[in-house]
Amino acid sequence: MDPSQPDTKMPDSSVLTTGAGIPTGDKLNSLTVGPRGPLLLQDSVFMDEMAHFDRERVPERVVHAKGAGAFGYFEVTHDITQYTKAKVFERVGKKTDIGVRFSTVAGEAGSADTIRDPRGFAVKFYTDEGIWDLVGNNTPVFFIRDPILFPSFIHSQKRNPQTHLKDPDMVWDFWSLRPESLHQVTLLFSERGIPDGYRYMNGYGSHTFKLVNAEGKAVYCKFHYKSNQGIKNLSVEEADSLVVKDPDYAIRDLFQAIAKKDFPSWTMYIQVMTFPQAEACTFNPFDLTKVWPHNDYPLIPVGKLVLNRNPNNYFAEVEQIAFDPSNLPPGIEPSPDKMLQGRLFSYPDTHRHRLGANYLHLPVNCPRRSIHVSNYQQDGPMCLFSAPCNAPNYYPNSFSSPRDDRKCREREFSTSGDIARHDSSAEDNVSQVKIFYNQTLSEAGRQKLCGNIALHLKDAQIFIQERAVKNFRDVDPDFGNRIKTLLDKHNKACEKKEPLHCYTRCLS
Ligand code: NDP
Repeated sequence: MDPSQPDTKMPDSSVLTTGAGIPTGDKLNSLTVGPRGPLLLQDSVFMDEMAHFDRERVPERVVHAKGAGAFGYFEVTHDITQYTKAKVFERVGKKTDIGVRFSTVAGEAGSADTIRDPRGFAVKFYTDEGIWDLVGNNTPVFFIRDPILFPSFIHSQKRNPQTHLKDPDMVWDFWSLRPESLHQVTLLFSERGIPDGYRYMNGYGSHTFKLVNAEGKAVYCKFHYKSNQGIKNLSVEEADSLVVKDPDYAIRDLFQAIAKKDFPSWTMYIQVMTFPQAEACTFNPFDLTKVWPHNDYPLIPVGKLVLNRNPNNYFAEVEQIAFDPSNLPPGIEPSPDKMLQGRLFSYPDTHRHRLGANYLHLPVNCPRRSIHVSNYQQDGPMCLFSAPCNAPNYYPNSFSSPRDDRKCREREFSTSGDIARHDSSAEDNVSQVKIFYNQTLSEAGRQKLCGNIALHLKDAQIFIQERAVKNFRDVDPDFGNRIKTLLDKHNKACEKKEPLHCYTRCLS
């Protein structure tokens, strides 16, 4: 018998076994010397059970630790083959299996679902040309535009290393020192900062990508998913109450809706920018703190995402699902977007650490459900697949084996510029925020936004509050002044309270 090929005879699943498949005679009583113990080292049934239990957890994700997942399909409804040759879009009506993971960002795996935080919206497409991962959020922009700041940014949002408390000083110190965060901070503290579960929010690929068609012509592109359920948000009071009553509110809502066959769906759109438009664009189209205005770059409908299957096993299919923005099939390529470039490295890097070098062998990550994988990679921990041993394991070689297909090469791309650590901090950080504040929001929306910001900012030290207010005044004096008025009221009410400012000593 070939040991790599499992025997097809089905075992009797009613008999309890160890992990090695050995039938277990007694799983209720440990093996002891006499009825009172001690235990014996030779109790392999106990050892097998306990040793595996001791290793049940993989490290939680550093960010996006708490999440919900579901599966379904993507269906093309509109032809975009003029922009891309990616087979996932090759014809109207084509369906591709997808897996989606929604998440909060800064909280730990056990944190509450209804906190004010961006929501992750990551989609895995099991395409005919391998995996395509489109890793996005429920906001079209992000806090920073240079990935070198990412670890510090996340540290500032997580727990203080001394107190192990969430620390408003750290949060607002970082944000106020980096005004490029203003756009995302403003969206975060608007009503959409606490969505009513995961079904009632939009998703955005956020980064700028490049689409390449069959003739080799390319355009830049952004991806959007608009919720077909509409937008619904929670008030601060509702969200706070759910933190206590139902901290898993969003996971429950998604699971129950799908279980009831009330399948959530989103319409996918793209925005397209030609290379000459990108050259002439008044802002940097590769800057993740900016959107592309709809008037200039209208939404083009593409298809729909439908979620119609809950995970059978949360750990196997949601905790272990691993998205990687560098998984791009031919016809979809990265743009110079610095944040995207940073993520092309950091996502697969963290999966190799968290799940192991062969994380792509796990069923939920494996492209084998739609195509076979042919390459010269081998071995490593938990290796489930390897190339046949009677073929070479090196390339090039003189024998039969997989070969590269020049049709799939990336489009050539010329670039120039001085190699330097270019400082982007003073780029325009306010124009689009001003438009959002004055034109997108209603008066009621502006009031809520300022109230939400003041409610959070009040817990930071006064000098940090003042720096943040100055930044909001730079967007629009009315914006900053309203926040300042609310902060003055809070600060007066809190005068007698002793705040916990750990880093004060570092200021002298
Ligand atoms: P539009 O008026 O065409 O678009 C406004 C966009 O804002 C819509 O996509 C709308 O989403 C969204 N929106 C409305 N309220 C909120 C909110 N409270 N939080 C987050 N998004 C909201 O104008 P522009 O394209 O010129 O954009 C104007 C501003 O809108 C931008 O500066 C940006 O701040 C924000 N925005 C723009 C997006 C874009 O891709 N252009 C995407 C999201 C926000 P919906 O249609 O689903 O209601």
